[in-house]
Amino acid sequence: MKPIELPTTPYLLLTPGPLTTSTGVKSKMMADACTWDDDYNTVVQQVRSRLVQLATSNPDYTAVLMQGSGTASVESVIGSVIPKQGKLVVVANGVYGRRISEIARYLQIPHRMIDPGETSGPDLETLEQVLACDTEITHVAVVHCETTTGMLNPIEEIGKLTKAAGKLFIVDAMSSFGGIEMDMEQLQIDFLISSANKCIQGVPGFGFVIARRNCMENIAGQARSLSLDLYAQWKCMEDHNGKWRFTSPTHVVRAFAQALNELDAEGGIAVRAERYRRNHQLLVDGMRSLGFKTLLADAQMSTIITSFYNPEDPEYRFDRFYNLLKQRGFVIYPGKVSDAECFRIGNIGDVWPADIERLIEAIGESCYWTDAEDTLGVLASA
Ligand SMILES: *Cc1c(COP(=O)(O)O)cnc(C)c1O
Repeated sequence: MKPIELPTTPYLLLTPGPLTTSTGVKSKMMADACTWDDDYNTVVQQVRSRLVQLATSNPDYTAVLMQGSGTASVESVIGSVIPKQGKLVVVANGVYGRRISEIARYLQIPHRMIDPGETSGPDLETLEQVLACDTEITHVAVVHCETTTGMLNPIEEIGKLTKAAGKLFIVDAMSSFGGIEMDMEQLQIDFLISSANKCIQGVPGFGFVIARRNCMENIAGQARSLSLDLYAQWKCMEDHNGKWRFTSPTHVVRAFAQALNELDAEGGIAVRAERYRRNHQLLVDGMRSLGFKTLLADAQMSTIITSFYNPEDPEYRFDRFYNLLKQRGFVIYPGKVSDAECFRIGNIGDVWPADIERLIEAIGESCYWTDAEDTLGVLASA
C-alpha cells in the first residue's frame, strides 16, 4: 500500500490550540513510558502539584488530569460536580458557554442559560436576579476567555455574585489559564478547567481540573459517566501516586511536564502574559494600520485571540486569504460568530513579537482576495 503522507508543518499556528509548540516540548514525546511505573507516575504527581501552584498560593487545592480534549474535562466537571438535586446556571456569551449548557442538556441536568449574544459582556443584572429568584440553583458556570470572539469575561464580579448567593463557582479557563495571571482563591473559583494544548503550550490529549480540596472530596458518587468520573479519577491519582484509571496519554503528559518547565524558564505566568500582551498589541496596531477593524472594543478584548471583521471588499474570500498566508508561513483561524463575518488570529503558543511583526508584513504584502492566484495585490485600504 502507498504510505500515508505526513506533511511537515513549515508554518506557525496562530490558532487557539493545538498551537505551535517548542522543539523541547515535542522532543519529550520521543520516549515511551509505563503507566504503572514510578518513573512515570512521579512525573504525573509533579505536574499535578505544579498546576496547583500556578492556580493559587493556597495549598488547599488539588488537581486532576483527564483524558480527552478540553471539552471532555468540562463534561467531567458538569457531569460529576452537580448533584442529582442540583441546578446549573450558565453565564454565556459565545460557543464555549453554550457548550456548557449543551453538556447539561445531554446529561439531563436542570439548567438555565443567560446569553446576551457574542459581542456583549455577560449579563450580570440578569444573573443577580436569577440567583435571587431561582432557589434551586446550586452552581454557576462561566467561560473566562470566550475563545469564540476573544472576549475576556469579568470572572471576579461573577464570582462575587455567585458567592454572595452561596453557590459553587465553575470556570472554564481553557484558553486563559497559564496565559493570564489569576488566583483561584481570590477569584473564589471552586472548579477551574483547562487543557494541555492552550497557554501552557503543550500538545493535545488531556485536560485538567483544579479544585478546592473539600469541593473535590464532596462529589463522590455523583458522576453520570464512568470514564468522565472526575472524583474517581482524582481518587485514583490521590491514592495510587498519580496513577490514571485508564490508559494515560503518556507522551502528551511528558511533553506537558516539559512545557511547565519551559513556562518556568520563561519567567512564569506574569512574563508569559506580558509576551502575549505584546503579541496582541502588535497584532491589533498592525492590523488597524492595514485597515482592518476588530470585532470587539479594546476594553472587551483578551490578549489570547483576536477577531477581525472580514474586509468589505467583495473580492475577499477567506480561503484564499488563508492559503496565501499559509504559503507565507502563517495559519490563521476562521471566525465563529453567528452574526458577523470575521476571522481570528491567535497570539498564544511558541509565538513571539517578531513573528507577529512578520505576519503583519506578510498580510500587508499579500494580495489575499483577487481572482488571479498569481497576482500580488495590495489591501483596498492601503
Ligand atoms: C479550547 C476550548 C475548549 C475546549 O475545546 P476542545 O476542542 O474540546 O479542546 C473549551 N472552552 C474554551 C473556552 C476553549 O477555548
